[in-house]
Amino acid sequence: MPKDFLAGAQDHYDVVVIGAGLAGLTSANILARQGRSVLLLEQHYKLGGLATWFKRPGHHIFDISLHGFPYGMVKSCRRYWSKEIADSIVQLTGIRFENPMFSLQTDFTRDDFTKKLIEDFRVDPETVKAFFDTARGMNFYDDQQTTARELFDKFFPGREDVIRLLMEPITYANGSTLEDPAISYGIVFSNFMSKGVFTFEGGTDKLVTAMGEELVKSGVDVRIKCDCEKVHTASSGNGGDKVTGVTVNGRHIKCDAVVSNSNLKSTIFRLVGEDKFSKDFVDDAKAVRINNSSTQVYIALKPDDPLEESTGDLLFTSTAPTFNTEALLSRDVTSRTYSMYYPRTRPEGRPQKLIVSSTNARWEDWADLPEDEYQASKQDLCETTLDALDKYVPDVRNRAVHVEASTPRTFNHYTHHLAGASFGTKFEGLAVSRALPQQIGGLYHAGSVGIIMSGWLGAMNYGVIVANEVDNHLMTGGSGSTADAEAGVAADMAAG
Ligand SMILES: Cc1cc2nc3c(=O)[nH]c(=O)nc-3n(C[C@H](O)[C@H](O)[C@H](O)COP(=O)(O)OP(=O)(O)OC[C@H]3O[C@@H](n4cnc5c(N)ncnc54)[C@H](O)[C@@H]3O)c2cc1C
Repeated sequence: MPKDFLAGAQDHYDVVVIGAGLAGLTSANILARQGRSVLLLEQHYKLGGLATWFKRPGHHIFDISLHGFPYGMVKSCRRYWSKEIADSIVQLTGIRFENPMFSLQTDFTRDDFTKKLIEDFRVDPETVKAFFDTARGMNFYDDQQTTARELFDKFFPGREDVIRLLMEPITYANGSTLEDPAISYGIVFSNFMSKGVFTFEGGTDKLVTAMGEELVKSGVDVRIKCDCEKVHTASSGNGGDKVTGVTVNGRHIKCDAVVSNSNLKSTIFRLVGEDKFSKDFVDDAKAVRINNSSTQVYIALKPDDPLEESTGDLLFTSTAPTFNTEALLSRDVTSRTYSMYYPRTRPEGRPQKLIVSSTNARWEDWADLPEDEYQASKQDLCETTLDALDKYVPDVRNRAVHVEASTPRTFNHYTHHLAGASFGTKFEGLAVSRALPQQIGGLYHAGSVGIIMSGWLGAMNYGVIVANEVDNHLMTGGSGSTADAEAGVAADMAAG
């Protein structure tokens, strides 16, 4: 008989959280600590969503999305998880850029960027200060009409080299483009610039294991291999609909609120169904663009390989003459970000030296390839990446003991994100996500949307905002305001 992954589950919970990405995990933990009964459902066999890892023979553990996040993670982890988790966050100082326009190393802080912009890029100090102050002053509720391109043209007209320095890492970090609203760039960029780039010492496996233990302590009923098929709704008796429960692994479970960490569009169109929403809302939801996906190549070097830490922690490389979003997405890859993992990444494990190459990618370029072509394209991705990396890690082909690739299809397979999206939806998804509870009482979404709420810090903080809203909904039946909680988290995010 197949194993019942819901054995012993209750028939009713205050809240069902669908998906155990960083937003879902954080929402579940906060709600349980607030005394709510919480069922956390994850379709995969492990928690973490895109915050994940995999193992290969030879004691190699590859991290998928642990490349760097802003300092704000320390505060969010301490407040919403544990001191031990927060204390494992450490800074990465070797951030390198190598492209036809410039070659430099930085700790990715405002101080160092200011120095480089003034001394190396010869930008007027007042302009640099004004730019940083403007980006720093941007917040969640600001004007969304100005694009990142317009922001750069205002401060650095004609300076494609400066735009590249300021924009390229953020495009990698969350898929944002020059055409996206300037605030989505400014908030994320300022978060990083406050103190630099950070990582989790011990790796994603250690972090997610620690989070799993916290969830159990908080009293969350955590269930893996539980694919939620349906969110049920019924009339609330006062004109609208409300959430009544979910169907998961064929079983109906009642609840008073749902937090979906599944992709925003899957939540609306697959889990709930468009007939449950107003026509205007459905039109807005249909217009939401899915963000781009990624390819990665995972390379393990021999354990005693002499890879020097001077190679850098994060290496942004490009052979394209100028920064250009289309080139970043093209299958004819010109830009790659390499993350170097030295033995200090996992000080407790077997020493390992690993390199993960990441590239933004389009779902359409991979989705329909016949199996043999797909495998050949993956192999080609591995080969061309080794060729490109040879410039920075000489003779890497002979130094590597394991090489494999992932594609948009891989991300889609493991997380069920539409089009294998690495960063949820584009900016317009945020308003749609925020409007869900006005459409159906007790229905919430928390997860990568609108760039600002993407990435480890953005997703986690969105989980916090939504958990507070759900708690308030359960307390007041949805009539109270969570503006204070939201403003508090927005301020934290702005403070990096
Ligand atoms: C290649 C790559 C590199 C990245 N690098 C970085 C980085 O360096 N720094 C950074 O900050 N961010 C990075 N990110 C982004 C970051 O990992 C994500 O933004 C973040 O982890 C997303 O969290 P989330 O809460 O939105 O949920 P997700 O991680 O998207 O998880 C959603 C979860 O819901 C589950 N689910 C979906 N549908 C159902 C269902 N019906 N029933 C049950 N479960 C369901 C999925 O299985 C999944 O576990 C990267 C992403 C990728 C792909």
